[in-house]
Amino acid sequence: MSKKIIIIGGGMAGLSAGAYLQMNGFNTEIFEMNGVPGGVCTSWKRGEYTVDWCIHWLVGSGSSDSFYARWSELIDMADIEVVDHAEYAVVEDETGNRFHIYTDLNRLEDEMMAISPVDFPKIREFIDTCKNLVHLEMPNEQSMEVANLWFKMKWLWKMLPYFGVFGKYSRISTVDYAQEFKNPLLRKAIANLFEPEIPILFCMMTLAWMHKKAAGYPIGGSMNFARRIADRFEALGGKIHYNCRVEKIGVENGRATGIQLADGATHPADYVVSAADGHSTLFDMLGGKFTSPKFEEFYRRGDTFPSLVFVALGIGRSFHATPHSYLFPLKSAFRIDPKTELKDLYIRTHNFDPTLAPFGKTLVSTMIETRNWEYWVDLQRNDPTRYQAEKQRIADTLINILEDKLGNVRDLVEMTDVTTPATIIGFTNNWKGSFEGWLLTPDTGFTQLPSTLPGLERFYMCGHWVAVGGGLPTAMMSGRNAAQLICAQERQRFSIQERV
Ligand SMILES: Cc1cc2nc3c(=O)[nH]c(=O)nc-3n(C[C@H](O)[C@H](O)[C@H](O)COP(=O)(O)OP(=O)(O)OC[C@H]3O[C@@H](n4cnc5c(N)ncnc54)[C@H](O)[C@@H]3O)c2cc1C
Repeated sequence: MSKKIIIIGGGMAGLSAGAYLQMNGFNTEIFEMNGVPGGVCTSWKRGEYTVDWCIHWLVGSGSSDSFYARWSELIDMADIEVVDHAEYAVVEDETGNRFHIYTDLNRLEDEMMAISPVDFPKIREFIDTCKNLVHLEMPNEQSMEVANLWFKMKWLWKMLPYFGVFGKYSRISTVDYAQEFKNPLLRKAIANLFEPEIPILFCMMTLAWMHKKAAGYPIGGSMNFARRIADRFEALGGKIHYNCRVEKIGVENGRATGIQLADGATHPADYVVSAADGHSTLFDMLGGKFTSPKFEEFYRRGDTFPSLVFVALGIGRSFHATPHSYLFPLKSAFRIDPKTELKDLYIRTHNFDPTLAPFGKTLVSTMIETRNWEYWVDLQRNDPTRYQAEKQRIADTLINILEDKLGNVRDLVEMTDVTTPATIIGFTNNWKGSFEGWLLTPDTGFTQLPSTLPGLERFYMCGHWVAVGGGLPTAMMSGRNAAQLICAQERQRFSIQERV
């Protein structure tokens, strides 16, 4: 009889682990505390609009990168319509000057040179490095933890030419690298490419992926994408139990033996995989009894991606003249919570995806980062009236800002939706309301945390709490890696089952 595997969490990592385990003959069940698959890769309906929360770009959306082959093991990528934006974003300064971060690197170089000829040497270095990374083909068919010698040699051969680039640009944060440009608009644009603390290498790789059309946006949005993976898992015979919150992982004689749900029900298993939040896995479900020096170091430092206040508006007109991703300065500071104030605002106008709004109307959203998750959790719990009022104040302020900046907004708002760090924690359990797990920094480098724990057999972890830096392809790959590790443990060859 095939071995039974329980997976905690039906986000991208859990679904991927499940699908690959099913392909390899295991009997896999996912226990997911929500009523839908996808975890943070989600969207939801609000009236005629779909609020799309997650995917800005999907690495592997195009066949020019090896992640495409990995996604294609799970779903029919050719069936997904992808938008490859001509611009990553448009960044504006106080005087209205605009800098277009083109995804075509030649065009981007021209734009940078036109704005700041004095930055020529730095621009050349930046663009040349991005162009160099366009050719990077990271072998990813085998998990390094179980890879054979041949694969390791191949990996080394492919990666060797990039060791210098990785060494240099993974040690400098995006915000520090930005300071090396003389022009203030270029500095602002580079500093805002992604998280300020993230190594500039990550941003360079993203621009390289976009240049080769391998990091586009899948039409239909995040939930649509997540559902495709969930459907594949189920088509392979896997089972998802929704609205089942796991409270404990059973352990006997140093072996994971199953799970206990919040309603007290227990489910035995030969293996347990946690694709859920890392902190609650280690310290609640396992009671803090199993950890490792590496995990302890990460939880002590606590360098997570921030949490979010996410505001979505459904507006009864199109915004084709507005950049799809637009950073502009505010006339006065926008207070989000007692520790968070914005001087600039990043908005997304989702005209590029007609499935998110009725014809001629647009979903507009902003993803505002905050580290003040305790404030929002406390407000939601202890003063729900003020919590609602604060959400409304933020939505109203955003509407006023957009009215002032773009015009013809206020009277056309048909839908407002505000989620806070309290929503993220309630919905996903993610520690501190982090939207993407562990932050990649010059200190962490491109490390992965181990997917096993010393002293605990038959237990694996995957997802953005072991795959540092998070992201959809990374979560998917860490689920795939967990499946490979279990196959290795069972001394069976890891294989891919063709889609029918
Ligand atoms: C706003 C936003 C924008 C993003 N943009 C991008 C992007 O453009 N490109 C990109 O690649 N990535 C992006 N990401 C990041 C990416 O979506 C995540 O890193 C990735 O989806 C993480 O998947 P995961 O399965 O590891 O974790 P999660 O999605 O957090 O899944 C964990 C699952 O476990 C469940 N769970 C937790 N505790 C329990 C429990 N006790 N019992 C049962 N179930 C439990 C949760 O409900 C959840 O479904 C974005 C994320 C956000 C939030």
